[in-house]
Amino acid sequence: SGCWEPQYRVVLLGDPGVGKTSLANAFAGVQERDLLEQHGEVAYERTLSVDGEETTLLVIDAWEPERRESWHRSHCLQVGNAYVIVYSITDHGSFESAAELRIQLRSMRQAEDIPIILVGNKSDLVRCREVSVEARACAMMFDCKFIETSAALQHNVAELFEGVVRQLRLRLEGK
Ligand code: GDP
Repeated sequence: SGCWEPQYRVVLLGDPGVGKTSLANAFAGVQERDLLEQHGEVAYERTLSVDGEETTLLVIDAWEPERRESWHRSHCLQVGNAYVIVYSITDHGSFESAAELRIQLRSMRQAEDIPIILVGNKSDLVRCREVSVEARACAMMFDCKFIETSAALQHNVAELFEGVVRQLRLRLEGK
């Protein structure tokens, strides 16, 4: 409403190869793609209209679990206003990593009620599925939202980021 347009940082977490960059690209769209280089981080900015109101998301794709510097990890876990933890439905190990990330995140940001969305990506690869949709029950236990996406087919990608916006707004209204 008016000139007041809130902006939020959304950090993508998850094992290498699960599709974080593909999701960020699908979010940004080929036309609207806006790559910002921020202190070596790759971020994609886009303004979404959700339920008749505009909100700008800065999606940060900088998670590199193999990097040894613990400051980089803790920086990623500190800067987000919301988190999207991605695993691949074709890789059970990546689902276990996602569960660990959820625990790390909650312990680092204990006092805050930050939105966390658990994402099962590569839902198009039905024949290679290793993680069942029962992950949804797991997400409920973890107090996360849950969605399955396909960055390749652009399936549920818009829904994912609209969900992030709604979760952020719910928490603002609750204060
Ligand atoms: P990241 O390391 O987590 O950023 O993963 P990438 O976005 O680089 O993706 C790793 C590989 O998985 C690439 O070859 C992508 O093309 C592929 N990929 C990503 N998302 C999907 C998807 O939804 N479906 C399929 N079939 N492949 C995907």
